Amino acid sequence: MSQPENLLQIIGRKRDGYELSDQQIHQLIDAFVSGHLHDYQMSAFAMAVLIRGMSEDETVCLTKAMLDSGTKLQWPADKTVVSKHSTGGVGDKVSLVLVPLLAACGLNMPKISGRGLGTTGGTLDKLESLTGFRTNLSTKEITSAVDQVGCCITGTTQDIAPADQKLYALRDATATVPSTPLVVSSILSKKLAENPSMIMLDVKYGTGSFTKDPAAATELAEALSKIGHRLGVPTEYLITDMNEPLGSTIGNYLEVREAMLALEGEGESRLMEVVHTLATKLMKLASPETTLEEHNQTISKAMQTGRAREVFDQMIAFQGGDPKTPSAGRKTTELLTERDGYISEINPEKIGWALIELGGGRKQKTDKIDHHVGCELQRCVGDRVHQGEAWLRLHCSTDPGRTERAIQYLTGAITIADSPPQKTPLIL
Ligand code: URA
Repeated sequence: MSQPENLLQIIGRKRDGYELSDQQIHQLIDAFVSGHLHDYQMSAFAMAVLIRGMSEDETVCLTKAMLDSGTKLQWPADKTVVSKHSTGGVGDKVSLVLVPLLAACGLNMPKISGRGLGTTGGTLDKLESLTGFRTNLSTKEITSAVDQVGCCITGTTQDIAPADQKLYALRDATATVPSTPLVVSSILSKKLAENPSMIMLDVKYGTGSFTKDPAAATELAEALSKIGHRLGVPTEYLITDMNEPLGSTIGNYLEVREAMLALEGEGESRLMEVVHTLATKLMKLASPETTLEEHNQTISKAMQTGRAREVFDQMIAFQGGDPKTPSAGRKTTELLTERDGYISEINPEKIGWALIELGGGRKQKTDKIDHHVGCELQRCVGDRVHQGEAWLRLHCSTDPGRTERAIQYLTGAITIADSPPQKTPLIL
């Protein structure tokens, strides 16, 4: 009989580039969660994975081990539960529209979301701009929300993939975030804990996302899709452009207001293109026998009848929030174009940094968010403009120094050219 493997030997095997077995990976993750493997040892393992990589089989085992470190939500057989994940972007408020919209169409979405990371905004931070909104629902409350409303948007609980929560904190502090097997297992362990019948991924590429070029985004999407399928859940993806902000606002409260307007049929066209494409794809995966046209009709009806907006309000109320939270009435100021021409770029990363300077995002984990600062875009890429036209309305910080620094970033975010730019497709 083989001896139980020493945990240090397992780390050493990965350091030396060997493939680990399912049993070895589970042993390591179990020991980490139970406190028998120290943080510094797990950090060494994460770095070994980052440098050596993992095979597809190992990534499947790691994802499963992280999922098994907690519980899976349980659903009655008559509920179709679906999941969506975005790799994050600037102005990305798709989940705020998509989740209630699909619940209004009869699907169920217990959405586990995250906070802002770098310059990309976090759905939980956005929703917390509504007075009283709770993002810490228990597993039992998530089940009740799905039962009563059809959806919720909340953070991870202590029993959802606890291995990921512990490991992510270490990766963040040890420069081991950008490793495909670690990213894939981290994202999918949380998505699979929702116990969905299918997963739809919105993988972003461009200056406003972590993945700058389309090839890298496609590689990540393919890896996620492969591992999701191997763990028994159809996992499809879209690759979408993040070389300009999505929608017309950036900032927590402003984005929630924009999502509400979108649910009332007033959505900005690029935002709605992503929402509609994801919604139709999930509906088609859930009911393949129904035609795309019928799915489109169901989606349009949910918007036009006001049902989608109603579900949004019910979700907010269930989570203790007030959808009528008033604006903080911040002082606004307009930024003007410096010359005639065509807008060839509105750089999302610089806008993301401006928002962080304003206090709408975090430089450090402990930073408190100012939910009411932000930007409203008055123009978009491709627009013909004249010198002195307002292209952005800034909702200022109460600290003038912050506002000044944000304006410096914003001034560098717009580029005006003599001829119209070549438009890139929003969805590849
Ligand atoms: N988001 C996650 O949840 N995990 C990662 O590793 C990266 C992004």
